Amino acid sequence: MNREKESCVKALEEGKRLTRSQWKTLVSDPDGEDAEILAQKARRIREERYGRAVFIRGLIEFTDYCRNDCYYCGIRKSNGRAARYRLTREEILECCRQGYALGFRTFVLQGGEDPFFTDERMAELISAIKGEFRDCALTLSIGEREEESYRAFRKAGADRYLLRHETADPEHYRLLHPAGMSLERRMGCLRCLKELGFQTGAGFMVGSPGQTPDTLAADLEFLQELRPEMVGIGPFLPHRDTPFCGRPGGSVELTLYLLSLVRILLPDALLPATTALGTAAADGREAGILAGANVVMPNLSPAGAREKYQLYDGKLCTGNEAAENLEALRRSMEAIGYRVVVDRGDYRGMIGG
Ligand code: SAM
Repeated sequence: MNREKESCVKALEEGKRLTRSQWKTLVSDPDGEDAEILAQKARRIREERYGRAVFIRGLIEFTDYCRNDCYYCGIRKSNGRAARYRLTREEILECCRQGYALGFRTFVLQGGEDPFFTDERMAELISAIKGEFRDCALTLSIGEREEESYRAFRKAGADRYLLRHETADPEHYRLLHPAGMSLERRMGCLRCLKELGFQTGAGFMVGSPGQTPDTLAADLEFLQELRPEMVGIGPFLPHRDTPFCGRPGGSVELTLYLLSLVRILLPDALLPATTALGTAAADGREAGILAGANVVMPNLSPAGAREKYQLYDGKLCTGNEAAENLEALRRSMEAIGYRVVVDRGDYRGMIGG
């Protein structure tokens, strides 16, 4: 590792605020040695905070209708070839029941921005889930809504909210999204979610078209300022029926390096080894954990839905990605010295542990 990078890492470990140019130094051309140095530090920090526990979240992809048209996403509204579905309230509750029996204590409701799920429907669904599974945490990932909606979801019992910022660079944001979507609004939503007391997740894809060391530096600077409780980072993977069809997928190595950097920046963060990472490399999940991640989110959706929720080509939904194969996931984590736990896996920074 060169001197300049070394001094940036030292500042980061000391909890100092890095400048945009220091972040740029850190994210520019990392080599294998840089990655190993950061991964070792990240593992040590994660072990200090969370031991060798891997937290599991049961992911329920409950609708792929979406009013948005993000250029990278397979369920964007203009994709006429997407097979649209939405789960019923009863189907969603049944997913939770199956998940609970398997050992999940966090459910993640993720979907496109589907107007069918009004605030009232969502609040009722949240109350029903939280009423039946009192010892479970509920995470929402349903995009941008008004403050009043977020307030209603919180009041109904939702604990956490995932809303990746996607990129913290306004020009890059415009390259990834149509006019009418704005970075300002997305960031406003994230701040609002934090203020309402959600454990909040930001994040971005690695290698999305137009991403550069400058935009990545902006991402890290934004995370440094927002201090989200969760950060979702996974490689961009192209989808054949989107404007970014044929673009190269993001680098697995750079994704792992960024996971390590984020672990050092936010020692208490809950960091998933994402499905996209598991899709991009056969050992992606394990590599993510070894780079500093501490969460995996197996898929709890009914089989028919899993095939339809295609954000990118080849998205995994079988093997260790499938909630019913938890035993295999357990074994694969044990093989690298980690332990899947039955626990809500709350943010330690918040509960003072
Ligand atoms: N609609 C909600 C939202 O916007 O936050 C949640 C669902 S959205 C499909 C979840 C995440 O999938 C996005 O934040 C994005 O980062 C990721 N995603 C979408 N298309 C992708 C692609 N082609 N490759 C990798 N990740 C992708």
